[in-house]
Amino acid sequence: MRTAVIEVSGIVQGVGFRPFVYNKAKELGIRGYVQNRGTKVRIVAQGERVEEFIKEIARGTPLSKINDLRVSFEEMEEFDDFEIKKSEFDVSDGFIPADVAICDECIKDILGNTRFHGYWATSCVNCGPRFTIIESIPYDRERTSMRDFPMCEECRRDYENPANRRFHAQTIACEKCGPKLKLFDAEKREIEGDPIKRTAELLKDGYFVAIKGIGGFHIASVLDRAEELRRRLRRPRQPFAIMATLEMAERIAEISEEERKWLLSPVRPIVILRKKNRFDFPEVSHLHTLGIMLPYTGLHYLLFQNLDEPLIMTSANEPGEPMVKSEEEAFEKLKHICHFYLIHNRRIVNRCDDSVVKLNGVSPVYVRMSRGLAPAKIEVKWKKDVEIIALGAELNGSVCIYKKGSCYISQYLGHVRNYDVMKYLEETAEFMMRVTQINPDVIAHDMHPAFLTTRFAKELAEKFQARRIEVQHHVAHVASLLAEGCDEIVALASDGVGYAPDGIWGGEVFVNFNRYGGLRKVRMPGGDLATRYPSRMVAGILYDVLDEDELRGILRNLYFPGGEREIEVVLRQMERDVNVPRTSSTGRVLDAASALLGICHERTYEGEPAMSLEAYALYGDPDALRITAEVRNGTVDTAGILLEAYEAMREGARKEDIALAVHRALADGFSELLLEASEKSGIENIGMTGGVAANSIIPKLIKERVEKEGKRFILNRLVPPGDGGISFGQCIYAVIQHED
Ligand SMILES: [Zn+2]
Ligand SMILES: [Zn+2]
Ligand SMILES: [Zn+2]
Repeated sequence: MRTAVIEVSGIVQGVGFRPFVYNKAKELGIRGYVQNRGTKVRIVAQGERVEEFIKEIARGTPLSKINDLRVSFEEMEEFDDFEIKKSEFDVSDGFIPADVAICDECIKDILGNTRFHGYWATSCVNCGPRFTIIESIPYDRERTSMRDFPMCEECRRDYENPANRRFHAQTIACEKCGPKLKLFDAEKREIEGDPIKRTAELLKDGYFVAIKGIGGFHIASVLDRAEELRRRLRRPRQPFAIMATLEMAERIAEISEEERKWLLSPVRPIVILRKKNRFDFPEVSHLHTLGIMLPYTGLHYLLFQNLDEPLIMTSANEPGEPMVKSEEEAFEKLKHICHFYLIHNRRIVNRCDDSVVKLNGVSPVYVRMSRGLAPAKIEVKWKKDVEIIALGAELNGSVCIYKKGSCYISQYLGHVRNYDVMKYLEETAEFMMRVTQINPDVIAHDMHPAFLTTRFAKELAEKFQARRIEVQHHVAHVASLLAEGCDEIVALASDGVGYAPDGIWGGEVFVNFNRYGGLRKVRMPGGDLATRYPSRMVAGILYDVLDEDELRGILRNLYFPGGEREIEVVLRQMERDVNVPRTSSTGRVLDAASALLGICHERTYEGEPAMSLEAYALYGDPDALRITAEVRNGTVDTAGILLEAYEAMREGARKEDIALAVHRALADGFSELLLEASEKSGIENIGMTGGVAANSIIPKLIKERVEKEGKRFILNRLVPPGDGGISFGQCIYAVIQHED
C-alpha cells in the first residue's frame, strides 16, 4: 500500500510532538506509527487524508520547532491502527532536549482541585525537566532519573491515554509515586510539617535555605538579609539573582514588552532588568540593574503561594566551583552558609545553572546560555565529513561538538581554572561525545599554553588519534559571528582578555580571520594585578602621554592598596619594563575609566569595574560632554580618551556624563575602524562580538553608525557573544579550516 514516510527534525522530542502526531492521526483516520529516532521523529502514515495529515504535522506544537520535514512514499503492508512505537536510537544522530519551565496548565493543576494539587514536581508532555535528568538518549523515562519512580496506577492510566495531556509524558509523577520533598536542618534532622510552608516561614524569619532545584541547588533568602549572605558567601559585591512573581518584579524593575516575553518564556532565564530607581536594593545589586527570574517549577510556585516578597535565589557554590548538585555535597559545602535544606530525592544527572539574558538595546544577548537554552543543536551551513570537539574558553567555559552540519553546544560550565570545574568540563565533554556518538577527528582549543583545556586537548588528541587545532580567542569570537548567516565579515571582537602570540588582545577589528586594527596597546603594570586593581591600568594607559610627575599627581588621587609606595613600585615597574605585558583590551580601558572616576577601585568579580562604569554612563547626558577618539594607522588612541576624561573631571563634569562620553568615544573609534575595514575589503557585513557586546551603549551606537552607512550590523544571537560562545566559534573555525 502507498505509504508516506515523514521524517521530522528540529526540536521535536520532549515537547509533546509524538502525542500531537498521534492525536492528529486518530482525528484524520491515519494508520501507521510515530517513533523517536535520535534527533528525528519518523512518521509512517497510510490513509485517505494523508496530505491533510502532513500539513497539520508541519504546523507542530507550541514548543516544537521544526527545522526540516521530509516526505517520501513507499510501498508497505497495510497497518491496522496508529501507534506510538518505542524509541529507536538512530546511530547517525543525537539530540538532548533542554529543560522546560512548568506550563500554565500544570500550574493550574497544582493550585486547583486535581490529583496533582500541591504536588511540587508536577509536569506534563509540554513541561518539566529534560536535560538535567537524562542519562542517555533517546529521551524516554527509562533513560532518565525518573526511572527511580515507577508510575502508580493513575499516572500509568494518564500516560497511556492519548486524550490526556500527560500521554507519554516521561516525567509524569504524583504525590503517590513521584519524587518526595523533605526539609532538614543543618544537622540533617527532618523538620516536621509541610516542607514548603515551613520553608516559606523560615525564609520570612531570615534564615538561609538551600533548595534543590532542577539543575542544582540554590540558596534562598529574603532581600533584607543580603548583607549577611554576602559575608557568608565571601562575595562582596557580585549582584544576586532574584526570583519573583511577575507582579513583584513589576514593582521593583522596569520591564519592556520584550523583557516580559523572556521572563515568561519556557526558558525562564534570569533577565537583567533596570531598577525602578537606580539606587534601590544596593545590597542585592550595586548596579542599576536587577537580575530577575520568575518561578519555573511547581516547587517555586508553591513556595510563592506562601510569600509576598521576592527572594534572593543564588546558585549554591563556593567561589569558583561548580553548582552543588547532590545532598551530600550540599550538607558538606553549605554548612557554613545555610540553616535549612529543602531537598527532593530525584537525582540531578546533569548540572545546569540558570540562564541569563540581557536586552542591550540591539538584541537579546545570552549572557549565560544554560538551563532551558542548552544543550542546543545549531545547524550551520558548513557541511563537512569531520567530527570535532571544541573545549572553549577559560572563563565561562562550554564545550561544543560538530558533526554532519550541526554544532551541539553544552551548558555553561563556569570558569575553568581549578580541578572541580575542569572535572565538570571533562564529564560534560564525555557526555556530549557519547550522546552525539562521535569519535573526534579534530580537537579545537584555545592557544593559551597554560590553560587546563590545552592539557585536556592533548590527552584527547592522544586518545582518539585526533588532530589538534589551536584557535586564537578572538578568532573564535569572529568565527561564532560568521555562523549568523555571513560568508564574510568585518568584525569587532571586544572583551576583557584573550591570549594572542604577541600579547593580550581584547579590542580588535578583524577582516574575516585577519586582524585589521584595534585599540592602542597599553601597559598592564603587574599583569593580572592590573585587572584586579584598575588604578594600575590608569597608570599603564597614561604612561606614554604624560611625564612622570604629572602621572604621579593623578595616581595619588586613586586607590592603591599599598598607597604611595605602591605607586612608586608601579612607576619603576614600567620604567624597567618588568612584568608589564601589553594589552589592547577594551575591558581594561573601561576599568581604568571606572577607577579614574572613583566608581570602582577593586574588581571582586568578572567585569565589575566596566559594568559599574556602564551603570553610571546610562544616566549621563550625551550633550553635556564629548570626547573624541583619535584613529590613526588602524589604531584607536585610548590614552587620549582617558586623558580627556581626566580633564573633564578636573573641570567638574558629572561622573555620569564622563562615563557616557568614554563609552561614546570608544564606539566612535571602533565604528571608524570598522567602516574603514569595510571600505577597503568591500565586505558589507559588520559585526560585533565578545563580552562587551552585552554592554547597553557601545553596540547600540556602533549599530546606528554602521546602518547609517547602509551596511548590515550583526550581533551573536545563536550563542553568547561572550566567552560562553567561544567553544562554538572554535568549532566553526575548525570546520572552515578542514579540507575533506
Ligand atoms: Zn505542563
Ligand atoms: Zn502517580
Ligand atoms: Zn572573549
